[in-house]
Amino acid sequence: DNKKSLHFIETIVEKDLQDGRNDGRIQTRFPPEPNGYLHIGHAKAICLDFGIAEEYGGICNLRFDDTNPVKEDVEYVDSIMEDIRWLGFHWENVYYASDYFGQLWDFAVRLIQEGKAYVDEQSAEEIARQKGTPTVPGIHSPYRDRPIGESLELFEKMNSGEVAEGKMVLRAKIDMASSNMHMRDPIMYRVIHIPHHRTGTKWKAYPMYDFAHGQSDYFEGVTHSLCTLEFEVHRPLYDWFLDQLTEKDYRPRQIEFNRLNMTYTMMSKRRLLQLVQEKLVNGWDDPRMPTLCGLRRRGYTPESIRHFVDNIGYTKYDGVIDVSLLEHSIREDLNKKAMRVSGVIDPVKLVLTNYPEGQTEELDAVNNPEDDSMGTRLVTFSRELWIERDDFMEDAPKKYFRLTPGNEVRLKNAYIVKCTGCDKDENGRVTSVYAEYDPQTKSGLPEANRKVKGTIHWVSAGHSIDAEVRLYDRLFTVEDPAGEKDKDFRNLLNPDSLIVKSHCKVEAFLKDAAPFERFQFQRIGYFSVDPDTTAGKLVFNRTVSLKDSWNK
Ligand code: ATP
Ligand code: MG
Ligand code: MG
Repeated sequence: DNKKSLHFIETIVEKDLQDGRNDGRIQTRFPPEPNGYLHIGHAKAICLDFGIAEEYGGICNLRFDDTNPVKEDVEYVDSIMEDIRWLGFHWENVYYASDYFGQLWDFAVRLIQEGKAYVDEQSAEEIARQKGTPTVPGIHSPYRDRPIGESLELFEKMNSGEVAEGKMVLRAKIDMASSNMHMRDPIMYRVIHIPHHRTGTKWKAYPMYDFAHGQSDYFEGVTHSLCTLEFEVHRPLYDWFLDQLTEKDYRPRQIEFNRLNMTYTMMSKRRLLQLVQEKLVNGWDDPRMPTLCGLRRRGYTPESIRHFVDNIGYTKYDGVIDVSLLEHSIREDLNKKAMRVSGVIDPVKLVLTNYPEGQTEELDAVNNPEDDSMGTRLVTFSRELWIERDDFMEDAPKKYFRLTPGNEVRLKNAYIVKCTGCDKDENGRVTSVYAEYDPQTKSGLPEANRKVKGTIHWVSAGHSIDAEVRLYDRLFTVEDPAGEKDKDFRNLLNPDSLIVKSHCKVEAFLKDAAPFERFQFQRIGYFSVDPDTTAGKLVFNRTVSLKDSWNK
């Protein structure tokens, strides 16, 4: 059959369903930390978390993993929700890990009471020194066997504000000789004196990821906790904490998949924040950013992103995806959807010397050859047109099939014209190109099919409007910017990642184009209307160039 084969997580979920695990319930969560905007890597996790729930009749909750007040903010909470909705997914509930601070606290107290956790008063450096190496067992903290009552008392103090940051931590008492470093008495709580964006100053002791995450899954009833491969080594700890909880007869299960890495792209939130804060880009939604809001502004569709994620799939092996696959995905999607229009990025005047002055005519243009239902529109033709400067060459090489004296080209949707010459200014720069049109070659007339090698686009000079066009290229010059550890990432930025063309001419049809509308500028690429557009000034972002251009 032609059903797509299952990926390994679908296989696990189907097996769990068959076995009647967790009463046949499927529940997932997407757990972003609200410390930055979502990026294309998060889209991979979102498609999986929400996708698995959809596919198997389960639910997926959005849970903000807000256990570190230092870097978190409501601005991020709002943008995360907007981006998930934009991708087309729906959460059942919104939860916040900070809502569980009380339950987590009670659980931690219970672990202290059971002799499974203790307050350590050593410095972070000292604790790190005692950790050992994977082959050398760690050393017990001198506080490991302190009386339970003392730990309980100090744990209270960690939270009351009496203990300075860095002076004490709560640690799980597990195994300092474990071959898994995460099991060597991991830190469960640390002291932070910064107010939390939701809980204010109520808490001073904050749970670490490893303690909060699995328990949050458990409190909510998550059945499949899907996360990226770097958490594989945390899984024994995830399970150890769950083993200590016995109230319910179900268990969340952590399954790891490969994260998305992409060529020419940095995905770490720390780096993205730096790019924004140091104004190396124009904000989180700069169209060069790999953020979802950046891709949206660039002109990406949610469908193209979901299709891309679907194509790269889920495995147990980390790799690097070629960014051209993402570009391929948006090109394919817009090829089907985008209306074809004419836009001239670098205009030069073309005068048809045998076309009557003052005459105009309306010519039919197909809106999308890939979709007849999109119909046709009329474009105005006249004696003076704008064409691309590089579609004319005075001294052209043999294989140049565009305008050069003596040569014929077809003007898209209009006539075949023969180039007769040009004007230049004192610097030798071409100011006007001249040609004669052949009235018998209008589309629909028999001579229209005469063979000419080149077709170029144009807009009527008297019937076009000005626009600014922003041409984007890769933000980094190297394939693996994150891998160049010895170099400052600022030196890896592509100085030509944004080129602004302020004097473009586009067909008059675009005068009412609204922000985020998408078009194909014939022969040039796909473009999206930028929200910087105002009534008097149209701004377009190039989403991606065309792979093929006609005979160019
Ligand atoms: P960073 O390390 O850049 O801060 P993060 O992984 O800590 O990113 P979170 O907000 O914690 O960011 O991520 C939420 C979810 O998205 C997690 O389940 C995480 O595994 C997943 N995720 C983050 N980055 C990627 C990626 N590049 N590919 C796939 N999933 C990702
Ligand atoms: Mg993080
Ligand atoms: Mg994280």
